[in-house]
Amino acid sequence: MTPIQALQKYFGYSAFRHQQEAIIGQVLSGHDVMALMPTGGGKSLCYQLPAVLLPGLTIVISPLIALMKDQVDSLNLNGIPAAYLNSAQTPDEQRDIISRLTNNQIKLLYIAPERLFGIENKLIDFLKSLPVSLFAIDEAHCISHWGHDFRPEYLMLAHLKGHFNNIPVIALTATADKLTQKDILEKLALHEPAVYVSSFNRANITYRVLPKNKSFNQLLSFLVDRNDDSGIIYCLSRKSTEALAADLKDEGYSAEAYHAGLDHATKARNQEAFLRDEVKIMVATIAFGMGINKSNVRYVVHMDMPKNIEGYYQETGRAGRDGLPSDAMLYYSPGDVIKLKNFVTLENNPEQSQILLEKLNDMAAYSELHTCRRKYLLNYFDEEAADNCGSCDICLSEFKKFDGTLIAQKALSAVYRLNQRFGLGYVVDFLRGSKSEKIRDEHKQLKTYGVGADISKAQWQRYLRELNAHGYLQITDDAYPTIKLTHKSEAVLKGLEKVELTEAQIIEEKVEEALPF
Ligand code: ADP
Ligand code: ZN
Repeated sequence: MTPIQALQKYFGYSAFRHQQEAIIGQVLSGHDVMALMPTGGGKSLCYQLPAVLLPGLTIVISPLIALMKDQVDSLNLNGIPAAYLNSAQTPDEQRDIISRLTNNQIKLLYIAPERLFGIENKLIDFLKSLPVSLFAIDEAHCISHWGHDFRPEYLMLAHLKGHFNNIPVIALTATADKLTQKDILEKLALHEPAVYVSSFNRANITYRVLPKNKSFNQLLSFLVDRNDDSGIIYCLSRKSTEALAADLKDEGYSAEAYHAGLDHATKARNQEAFLRDEVKIMVATIAFGMGINKSNVRYVVHMDMPKNIEGYYQETGRAGRDGLPSDAMLYYSPGDVIKLKNFVTLENNPEQSQILLEKLNDMAAYSELHTCRRKYLLNYFDEEAADNCGSCDICLSEFKKFDGTLIAQKALSAVYRLNQRFGLGYVVDFLRGSKSEKIRDEHKQLKTYGVGADISKAQWQRYLRELNAHGYLQITDDAYPTIKLTHKSEAVLKGLEKVELTEAQIIEEKVEEALPF
């Protein structure tokens, strides 16, 4: 049977997507492969189809036991004998699977890494006695400290090649920047791997961000006309998932909550109901979704800012797997950034905190963008993109523009008067006429001091960032970023060029001044 015949016979699809065909070809010819594909890109097929065609057993390493059952069930439904081994199974169940493995009656075996390398390598030794054709390592970024979802038990996979030297390995992930990619290849010790990086563009998803302001009302207006659609709403805390699900029910929506603190039965029931479209809205923490294969999720809403772009991209990627138009909506508040910064610095060692803080800053920058969001996301994953995607809030011009020439002039002349030597915070305080001692006395004498007192701090920050994005100002990229003028500044200062700024209301949040960072 050829791959395309197997695709039609076992999976019911008429054609390969993206680089599936090339990847599968490499795997079948016995090469090590690393495949990077966005969520919903079709990674599973890259090992499931070879598993059908290869003579022996394919072992799939997957981090979440909860997901194995779904995968295995759907394979069995397609007539592909598959099984999983985990600690939740009874000894009888496990014995049954072992005996089917011994009799070569299973094509795919799913297993968690900690189980594989469990007690005295007993399982490894057993598996070595079987004709293993392929290892597939799902969510391979979990092996890297550089990734956003490091899992210590994945490190054990560094021994895999030692045990199974000649067996090809395919590593798969939806998220890997260059550092993480390199780390995956090294840690797994892949042998002359073929690396495939698919486009991360999810063209059918429209990205939007709104400043958070009475977010429940914002959500209700978002949900208008979306009664029949299936969607996921992510919240940061467990408590807020339950509260929000209850509030939505009060408003007549079909919603349930999902988070890691719920008991097993409730989680299973809510997930099942969502998968079957009996419940339309899943209000969840990020504990929900990894590996959930529901194709008709029409929208993903973030009530709070995610910790990093990787997470955001993965979570929003759960919308529109069927290729139909879908929405990603984020309600953003600078206060979220501060909350998350606290978590990150408290929970991790300094080195790890630094990595996570940078990722957090990238996410905050995305939320405050004035240029195409898709371009930012794709560039983040080292992919080129056009300036205008036509399907994000920025490119759709959903924000009102106004003549911001005067504001721009105030900002530019402040920067000029301060000799282009100060950072964003200082310039804003200066514009607002802050009485703080931080502002030097000689600066308090300048004419520009306080000309922007009518505009809030948060607004000024936004405007300065927008002026930066449009090249009227430049925020330097060093350890102590300062604001400088550019070649475009002069025309504005002389009144020769008009500047458009974006109207977006910002909620002024009281933020404790004395936080430790
Ligand atoms: P990933 O693991 O990359 O997030 P999946 O492997 O779950 O993605 O695939 C996403 C969806 O696309 C699934 O519903 C899958 O059945 C479907 N799919 C995969 N390959 C193809 C294909 N060649 N043609 C049509 N649908 C496909
Ligand atoms: Zn765009």
